[in-house]
Amino acid sequence: MAGLDGQKLAAAKLWLISPSPGNGPVGADPSAPRDLPYLATALYALVAVANEDVARMTCDEYWRIYVNPAWLDAAPVPAVGAELAHVVWHLLADHSTRARDQDVDKSTAVLWDECADVTISHTLEPDSLRPSALATFRTMRVPEGLSAEEYFALKSGLSVVDSPDSGTLQPGEGCGSGADGIPRSHEHGPSTDIGAVTFVEARAIRERVAIEAREHSTKRGDLPGDLERWIQETLHPRIPWQPLLSGAVRRGIGWAAGRGDYTYQRPSRRASSVRGVVLPGQHRQVPRVSIIIDTSGSVDDELLSQALGEVDGAIASLGLPGSHVSVYSVDAAAHLTQRVRRARDAQLIGAGGTDLRVGLKAIEHERPRPDVVVVLTDGYTPWPATPPPGSAVIVALLAHRWWGEDLPETPEWATRVECMLD
Ligand SMILES: [Zn+2]
Repeated sequence: MAGLDGQKLAAAKLWLISPSPGNGPVGADPSAPRDLPYLATALYALVAVANEDVARMTCDEYWRIYVNPAWLDAAPVPAVGAELAHVVWHLLADHSTRARDQDVDKSTAVLWDECADVTISHTLEPDSLRPSALATFRTMRVPEGLSAEEYFALKSGLSVVDSPDSGTLQPGEGCGSGADGIPRSHEHGPSTDIGAVTFVEARAIRERVAIEAREHSTKRGDLPGDLERWIQETLHPRIPWQPLLSGAVRRGIGWAAGRGDYTYQRPSRRASSVRGVVLPGQHRQVPRVSIIIDTSGSVDDELLSQALGEVDGAIASLGLPGSHVSVYSVDAAAHLTQRVRRARDAQLIGAGGTDLRVGLKAIEHERPRPDVVVVLTDGYTPWPATPPPGSAVIVALLAHRWWGEDLPETPEWATRVECMLD
């Protein structure tokens, strides 16, 4: 097998990351470097493998690139740089994991690759870096600026695949497992014998590139929309909050139930020997849940109703008979206590400023005391120094994603769940 021209690959990486001479727009001179220094960490993590069966360059999930030696010999440095940028964006965007989330299989892998390529083209075009063969929103006849998942949904229709088509693909099909998670016959797999970037290392590379891309863009003064979205999603990954919130409620209730001295599951051993006598204390207390809802004007209605639905779901999933929840609407005052079967049924009152201290104070007067208090708020409120005695407190912090890192602090005595709406 022919070797690879390592010097040309090195030159292409340098061409991508080096500053452009002069102040002209990047891409005005087709041979001038592209000034993308933030790609360096990713580019130098790639492990190049010669392969004569790929057309130009493909990637696997372990950051190996398979390069056709004859193509490399013939291609000018900018064309090699453009292909490097193409495959490195498959890896940075984690298209293989995202393909698995979309149930991409052997029969749909190439279509997924094309959809992912449309988004990469969109990212590369402002820097005049798009490989000429790469699909675009124009060649695919789809709207501009969507995600790979959205293109895939548009192009694959609604047909449901009953039996996933597993197996490997040939070297010439699509962009490699680094783009779609489907192994190719020529790829080396997870073995570390021939270099390999682990998934943990890949995450660290993505974060470093995202941080450096953000820094670079503040200097250069422009940030294409695709890149901005990718930075945001890489540095603030979308963790679904729904299971976190229902899990916190369930744990809170479980903790409370575990405090009881007796349960139905542990009948007294004496019971069988004392016929006809009902022993005292052998009933399980139904856990009591109270909900404080911040009804000040700043709380998002849609997010609030989603969060209430999750709290209801968590309570319902425990299968507790006859459980009710107390709901307090709180802005600057505690307005209303209702006992309802579902938190969503409560009528919400209030629109003023926020002071959740009054709500938590009201909880202290509730008898019997609730085991779990769930507070739904945007967090812009004063908090008391201590929690209501005897209650586990969960704060569901309702926020919009674009608020970014500066979410308000919540008390240490409360379990915090950040509920983000996109
Ligand atoms: Zn591709």
